Amino acid sequence: MIYLDYQATTPLAPQARDAMLRWLDGPEGTGFGNPHSAHRMGRQARAAIELARDRVAALFPAGGQVIFTGSATEAINLAIRGSGKGGSVSVSAIEHAAVLDTAEALGQKHELNVAADGQCNTNQDVPNDTRLIAVMQVNNEIGVVQPTVEWHRKAKASNALYLCDAVQAYGKIEVTGADMIAVSAHKLHGPKGVGALWVRDGVRLDEVQTGGGQEGGLRSGTLSPALIAGFGAAANVAKERMAEDAAHVEALWNRARELFADWTLNGSEDARWHGNLNIRRDGLDVNRLMSDCRDVMFSAGSACASGSGRPSHVLKAIGLSDAQAKSSIRLGFGRYTSLEDIEQAARQINVAAKEQGL
Ligand code: PLP
Repeated sequence: MIYLDYQATTPLAPQARDAMLRWLDGPEGTGFGNPHSAHRMGRQARAAIELARDRVAALFPAGGQVIFTGSATEAINLAIRGSGKGGSVSVSAIEHAAVLDTAEALGQKHELNVAADGQCNTNQDVPNDTRLIAVMQVNNEIGVVQPTVEWHRKAKASNALYLCDAVQAYGKIEVTGADMIAVSAHKLHGPKGVGALWVRDGVRLDEVQTGGGQEGGLRSGTLSPALIAGFGAAANVAKERMAEDAAHVEALWNRARELFADWTLNGSEDARWHGNLNIRRDGLDVNRLMSDCRDVMFSAGSACASGSGRPSHVLKAIGLSDAQAKSSIRLGFGRYTSLEDIEQAARQINVAAKEQGL
């Protein structure tokens, strides 16, 4: 099997797996303690969590706190719901459902336009009552990198907070300033089921779930030492290998662009994370292609949109017709993808497309 779905999730790094095992002990071991217990086993688990917190924080700007959550979705909910009431929440039209649906559920959503290249530019107005702006750093469907520094500046000038969903950027490129940044471990070779919200010093949040008061009262619930240790190890490896990983992705991208030269790229070529190749062929039947290439793991649009039968909201927002959006595929690759993987997958996909008469 060839795995080309790195935006949906990434393979667990061996270092992350090793870091987790100690905290998955059964009755014979000492790693299963509750990190909030005062005894020695509890304190050991707590120390592992604090080491991981430092490692996760090392990929964020200075001057903020890391709050562990169960996912980026939870981090985003805490940021949007916990940062204020009333007013508008201005969000780019290509945000993840975690942002779009939360702003919508609060009845506060104002959508920001996106250009044909996938960029959400700051030359548009936000409503006067905007309390929060949310523009992601790297889009999960088309990989386009957004002008986050400018959005942070615009939010400040508008007396609003700025939330950046950096799920697809964190650990790959530098995560730039914002007031709050949401990330998820499983997108950088960590385990699923753990995420974090980085909160700039001085930004006040209210709890959105009540309980034991963990994470400074902002995210009640017992923390998972195993998941968090895995997250910390993954962040540590990502920091050490960032340049090497990026160079590898660039080589894969260049080869993939040659092999898929007959396809049209969706979104900007340059303002883009090059581990995301979202391409289309007019008239392509994506379901048939996926069934003909069963050994290649790739997506139609996004993992969330595929299967729903609805065209992707991101591809629609950049001006594609329903038919164009539905004839698009997303190939995602990274640290553990080889050039041979790309070549074999391209061979299979191009043969299958040819069989459709394309
Ligand atoms: N934001 C983006 C850009 C994503 O790609 C994802 C995951 O697909 C999420 C948020 C949600 O992350 P999680 O799976 O941790 O809830």
